[in-house]
Amino acid sequence: MRKVIIALDGHSSCGKSTTAKRVAAKLGYAFIDTGAMYRAVSLYFHENHVTSTNPKEVEKALNEIHISFQFNEQRGASDVYLNGLNVESEIRKMYVSEMVSEVSAITAVRKAMVAQQQQMAKHGGVIMDGRDIGTKVFPDAEVKIFMTADPVIRAERRQKELLDKGELVDLDEIIENLKKRDIIDSTREEGPLVQAEDAVLMDTSFMTLEEQVNFVIELHQNVLERL
Ligand code: C5P
Repeated sequence: MRKVIIALDGHSSCGKSTTAKRVAAKLGYAFIDTGAMYRAVSLYFHENHVTSTNPKEVEKALNEIHISFQFNEQRGASDVYLNGLNVESEIRKMYVSEMVSEVSAITAVRKAMVAQQQQMAKHGGVIMDGRDIGTKVFPDAEVKIFMTADPVIRAERRQKELLDKGELVDLDEIIENLKKRDIIDSTREEGPLVQAEDAVLMDTSFMTLEEQVNFVIELHQNVLERL
């Protein structure tokens, strides 16, 4: 079977990573969660008190940041490592969500992450989720999907995810965070969140996980048959 690139972009918390993880397992593809990379950079900025408005400090930090992924058998997905340390659960916490959109709007940060993402998926056989994968990272990706969902439904899903990890967060706080991130992500100059012209829209508000996975698998199959 020919291996291609699946670009899965969309709003925060509409099920991109969960869907991508399952699709990757079914197709034998690698799954790359690019949001985890921006979250890891944000964590580094937080821990090292990097002033994100100071280009010199940002550049120095980017030179010191090394992000990698390592497959975690238990989770059935890759954990993200920041300078050799597993930060998979730390980066999902609310304080990181609060700062990640501002950090990922910095041009130097985007350039560094995009270059790394292009390198990681250059041989294909990858499903990559993010905001700018089909527009900027891999504008020629064979399969492009743009995911969205009702904001309240997204916030409820996110709340459950956080609760499963032991963090109880008020629904209104999550709704505010998602709205804020959507606005920053969609209006930034570099790599804004926008549906690529050739991406297929998928509204997951009333879709089960299985339906979402099948949607991507069918689209991938249709594309392969036409190649
Ligand atoms: O996917 P996730 O919600 O974990 O992403 C966290 C944040 O990282 C997003 O809100 C966005 O600001 C940023 N991001 C990005 N470009 C990507 C992936 C994520 O700017 N390709």
